[in-house]
Amino acid sequence: MERIDLKGLPLKKLEGLIEGKGWEKYRAKQVMRWVYKGVSDFSEMTNLPQKLRRELKEWAYVGNIEIVKKHISKTGYTTKYLFKLDDGNIIETVYMKYSYGNSVCVSSQVGCNMGCSFCASTIDGCVRNLSASEMIDQVLKVQKDQCQKITHVVVMGSGEPLLNYDEVIKFLKVLNSPLGFNISFRRMTVSTCGIVPVIYKLADENLPITLSVSLHAPMDSLRNRIMPINKKFPLHELIEAVKFYVERTGRRITFEYVLIKGLNDSKLCAENLVKLIRDINCHVNLIPANPIAERDIERPKPETINEFKRLLEQNGIKVTVRRELGRDIDAACGQLRRKVLKEGVINPL
Ligand code: SAH
Repeated sequence: MERIDLKGLPLKKLEGLIEGKGWEKYRAKQVMRWVYKGVSDFSEMTNLPQKLRRELKEWAYVGNIEIVKKHISKTGYTTKYLFKLDDGNIIETVYMKYSYGNSVCVSSQVGCNMGCSFCASTIDGCVRNLSASEMIDQVLKVQKDQCQKITHVVVMGSGEPLLNYDEVIKFLKVLNSPLGFNISFRRMTVSTCGIVPVIYKLADENLPITLSVSLHAPMDSLRNRIMPINKKFPLHELIEAVKFYVERTGRRITFEYVLIKGLNDSKLCAENLVKLIRDINCHVNLIPANPIAERDIERPKPETINEFKRLLEQNGIKVTVRRELGRDIDAACGQLRRKVLKEGVINPL
């Protein structure tokens, strides 16, 4: 019999399983508390009867991912983790300490196949989706390692979360659950390159999370060039979906815009961006591009970034230039994982 991973399993399901085996329903909650405390050995779950602990070992297990490398940025505010999964795949997760709380940037897939031209995560394609358990464990392991309660989660690491919808939703629900992490949905962000039909689906899910849309270009001609997904879901369809999302959920949306020198940083781009989003309740994050080894991209000069920002502000758009915390540790978008895969070795911590 294949054993069931209890990490990420909805409580109702576990209650059903436990009751089906003749135990009291409340035992399920006891088990879940241990699981999200980071205990994966049933024999350590000391408030359960010995017999139940033995039985659990037969039909269940608690999934675990393993820290294989850790980079701490010079500022000390950002730590990048590389994790090894059960099947040997490697993923990356970033911890960021802000004045408002402790945030984890979680990967949702091993690699990515969206093909964005400026992103390191996509270079070797997508190997597979991550399970809810593997996403939960990124948060759990970072929380434990940092000895800090995680207060914010962004699904903005490698992968396209809306192509791993069911597991991502399961993951968010565990984060929110009082038995899990007790994090408010308002402190969770999911970032997408624009999988239009799934944006509608997410709107109907009615979770008050923040949706972040990676825009990066305000004209189809340019967006097609740097984000292949735009050929499938062009800007007018994406913007329509975003408007539906805002209307349906009452939540403000975030647009991510990576500024790449000479590509999407012109005055014309800023003007077109204003036209595209001016009537949407939104916030724009401008992200000076991080250079990556395999791609010939540069960030614009600070003056260009400021001009771009000013033009948006003059037109009433709320905008911030994203503070960079982890550039010195390759903490941007699949870069550390790439480096390690290329070098072919993982040194112990
Ligand atoms: N697939 C999702 C989530 C992963 S990408 C999405 O597209 O939103 C997370 C963010 O990192 C995106 O906004 C992405 O555009 C950005 N990013 C990727 N490569 C980057 C680079 N070289 N410099 C700066 N930001 C980058």
